[in-house]
Amino acid sequence: MISEDSKHKTKRDPSIYTCLEEIKASWKGNVGGLIQDWVEIAGQQLSSNCTPLNIQNKILTIGASHPQWRQALQYNRLELIDSLKKHGYQIREIRIRQHYPINLVSRESEKEIWEKHPSRTDKNGIINCPNCRVPSPKGEVKLWGKCCFCRRKELRID
Ligand SMILES: [Zn+2]
Repeated sequence: MISEDSKHKTKRDPSIYTCLEEIKASWKGNVGGLIQDWVEIAGQQLSSNCTPLNIQNKILTIGASHPQWRQALQYNRLELIDSLKKHGYQIREIRIRQHYPINLVSRESEKEIWEKHPSRTDKNGIINCPNCRVPSPKGEVKLWGKCCFCRRKELRID
């Protein structure tokens, strides 16, 4: 007899893998070119305190370690979007997140990404997905309001 637990485990493993792959892909992103133009786009001060992290669906995520700079980013958002457009980056939205730069380019190791990954159950625990009722990593539900499966369905990634 197969227990509910082991059934669940075999069902979830591929999804955890895909989620991790997604995160990894998004971290590599296509910010390479942007990083080179970053000083020119954001200005000396802002650019040395805030790092472009990734671009996805025309949304640019910028990381800053200090709240003061996250606030500065927030205030200068529209200007920054304008400046980005002038440099050929079609960005429609800027998201700001806390980020402690390791290098200028966020080269987080896979281990670090996994440390923070919402699909981890050893750190975050398990909770029923409010959508499909399948026990899911708490981190996923906290982040997306649903499990990884439901999120993928919603985003129509598959
Ligand atoms: Zn679900």
